[in-house]
Amino acid sequence: MFHAATEEDVIRGDVTDVYFTRTVEILRKNNIDKKVRAELVVKSLPENYHWGILAGTEELLALIEKLNLSLNVRAVREGTLFRIHQPLIEIEGRYLDFCVYETAVLGLVCQASGIATRAARCVAAARGKPVVCFGARRIHPIIAPMVERYAYLGGCEGVAGVKSASLLGIEPSGTMPHALILLYGDTVAATRAFYDAFGQRVNIISLVDTFNDEKFEAIRVAEALGNKVFALRLDTPASRKGSVVDILREIRWELDLRGHKNIRLFLSGGLTEEKIRELNELADGYGVGTYISNAPVLDFSLDIVEIEGAPLAKKGKLSGSKSFLRCNACRREVVWPYQASPPRCECDGEFVELLQTAIQNGKVTRAGRLSVEDFEGNRDYIKAQVKASI
Ligand SMILES: [Zn+2]
Repeated sequence: MFHAATEEDVIRGDVTDVYFTRTVEILRKNNIDKKVRAELVVKSLPENYHWGILAGTEELLALIEKLNLSLNVRAVREGTLFRIHQPLIEIEGRYLDFCVYETAVLGLVCQASGIATRAARCVAAARGKPVVCFGARRIHPIIAPMVERYAYLGGCEGVAGVKSASLLGIEPSGTMPHALILLYGDTVAATRAFYDAFGQRVNIISLVDTFNDEKFEAIRVAEALGNKVFALRLDTPASRKGSVVDILREIRWELDLRGHKNIRLFLSGGLTEEKIRELNELADGYGVGTYISNAPVLDFSLDIVEIEGAPLAKKGKLSGSKSFLRCNACRREVVWPYQASPPRCECDGEFVELLQTAIQNGKVTRAGRLSVEDFEGNRDYIKAQVKASI
């Protein structure tokens, strides 16, 4: 029914680029079977990004383990904040064993990292106010849980998708659609029905832009339902938008004046980091859709850096296996030849190796498992690194 590959297709190596299958044929025919090390790095970041967040290693490690090949992988922890030219994953093994998986390996981390990075940027722009992922409707449904998973990893407080939330083990977050209000023919009636059905279980967020002016609808809902309403959501269409900051300011004023200081204001509809920053003084939360689910991918490449133990890389690329070190005191980072004795940081702090053995001889190690399994821990890890970087 859907134009999608299956897990088995990926494991078989069918989701690959034809130049890899041809390369395998040529190398096999000529008995060239060499051991290599190849590393995953980003050489440039999209837009004005100064950093990215690595995500998708959980699926990458699971795929490699499933292949049951004699491969070793060193990887940084899922959620590591990085800059260009820093090695994040290194695969060591016979090139013929993993050559056809390059397409899938890159695809897994390029998109997941792009989404986690953009979610983290939105969350940073919102300065502690919640950002919920509303992006499932903008992407193919087969990958919606994956997209929302990495939006959540990047720091979103919740996701609207029911399947996505269930796979994450969280409650889905949502408000009410315009359809409910249209079917009731009135915002207050629809909000009351929402409260009657779900008031004991979820925070009631009423949508106040369906029929009339947002300010007067906000006052009507607040007066009619008071504390039963947790927040009001504005999803005002572009044709009526004018200045959202002014609309918010008016609504806030009118609500406060009538004793509804506790009713929050949520926004959705075409939000970006820039808009979040503009609105953040007055808004209390955001639903972000397209901007997160359509996040630019991070262009990782998988480059050979060593062949049969000898450093070798294409031009424009540093050869040899490397360490990615971060100072435990001042957080300065250096890339250093692997197994060379690490430098001492200027601040006299100690450099810690971020690249840990995640797969040993085809099997995910304890360190590898720990680096991806603690999902909540990795969310906090991302938050702390972003905070230290902006
Ligand atoms: Zn230091």
